[in-house]
Amino acid sequence: MTELPGGPSLPQERRLVTAVPGPKSLELAARKAAAVPSGVGTTLPVYVARAGGGVLEDVDGNSLIDFGSGIAVTNVGNSAEAVVRRAGEQLAAFTHTCFMVTPYEGYVAVAEQLNELTPGDHEKRTALFNSGAEAVENAVKIARAYTGRQAVVVFDHGYHGRTNLTMALTAKNMPYKHGFGPFAPEVYRVPVAYPYRWATGADNCAEEAAAQAVDMITKQVGAENVAAIIIEPVLGEGGFIEPAKGFLPRIAEFAKANGIVFVADEIQTGFCRTGQWFACEDEGIVPDLITSAKGIAGGLPLSAVTGRAEIMDAAHAGGLGGTYGGNPVACAAALGAVETMREQDLNAKARRIGEIMLGRLRALQDKYAGSASFSIGDVRGRGAMIAVELVKPGGKEPHPEATAAVAKACHAEGLVVLTAGTYGNVLRFLPPLVIGEDLLNEGLDILENAFAQL
Ligand SMILES: *Cc1c(COP(=O)(O)O)cnc(C)c1O
Repeated sequence: MTELPGGPSLPQERRLVTAVPGPKSLELAARKAAAVPSGVGTTLPVYVARAGGGVLEDVDGNSLIDFGSGIAVTNVGNSAEAVVRRAGEQLAAFTHTCFMVTPYEGYVAVAEQLNELTPGDHEKRTALFNSGAEAVENAVKIARAYTGRQAVVVFDHGYHGRTNLTMALTAKNMPYKHGFGPFAPEVYRVPVAYPYRWATGADNCAEEAAAQAVDMITKQVGAENVAAIIIEPVLGEGGFIEPAKGFLPRIAEFAKANGIVFVADEIQTGFCRTGQWFACEDEGIVPDLITSAKGIAGGLPLSAVTGRAEIMDAAHAGGLGGTYGGNPVACAAALGAVETMREQDLNAKARRIGEIMLGRLRALQDKYAGSASFSIGDVRGRGAMIAVELVKPGGKEPHPEATAAVAKACHAEGLVVLTAGTYGNVLRFLPPLVIGEDLLNEGLDILENAFAQL
């Protein structure tokens, strides 16, 4: 077999040979500014030439440690052998026929895999789409068709995409919604159990937040009008908020008791990211529908809605689909990604990454407990989906400036980190699950130095 340019031959090391970004990246950034609208932003204008394992190699020859995975997408790395091989074979066979016109096996095989991998042993169906937002939109269509109801309930700090309906479902105004309205109607937002910021304390959080959510749904919307309740089992863009234990089961029970379709948006949390195939397994929840995307296909665009057969089959024939949905190359890549996850036991790898990161980040939290310039208010997350929330000393006031400064210092040293959170004060870490432990620890060393510079 020929050597993969980003595959095994890519040295798994951090290497800085120019400033970050280097001169060739800066040249490309100037071309971007002239050719691409500024609404399409970049976290770090380092232009990538090859990537794989735990590193991104740029056009200047720098090799950066990746704690972002292209936003939780490259769980198996950016050039996993099985993904490249299967997608390559499919590419050579045919690129597209449109599954709605003349179908092919790959789509069916991915659907079968998702039906097997998602929680619950009931009969399931899966429909494939292109992006996460498109999957969420289709989950709403399916839930409305099944229930004959219109209202959709979502949560504070939730993120579900950038299309018109999913902007309405998303909580945060800037940058996702500002100036882009009017938004789709019949969307209602209720509180989520955010332990760190719950006014009466983390211990009361699950029960009180669930009671408030249920009260708002029953009094302001009417449970009998609600088609779907949609929640991320760990809220991603909202800042890796883990709803207090007990909250999700209560909401799921309420949905069940009222004939509401319970949708877990596992687009960021799915495919081994939290140390399980799907994060809702952590509390034994069996959603009616699950949306997945991001980690599903090793970097190729693919998304899915998987759920109870009787709900999924409620939409009329021809009511679901799209020209590219379940593209054969993306399906082949998805089969390669799942093969990699199974063969390398990436759930175990994710849990190991979580142990290492949480241990070192909690030590940092203690170290800076008395700092006069910032404090690490909260360290949280599961598996390879870990975050720290930065606040001003002596309270819980968000500290977005310190967060941006740490991210910037990491970038300059060749570590890709992302920020998140409604208040912009969360540093989130999403390394590829195949990252080596030496690189993981080197990345954490860089992070420690960045904190020391504050
Ligand atoms: C990223 C994300 C989406 C949107 O996915 P796109 O592929 O960007 O449309 C939806 N929900 C969650 C939880 C996400 O993290």
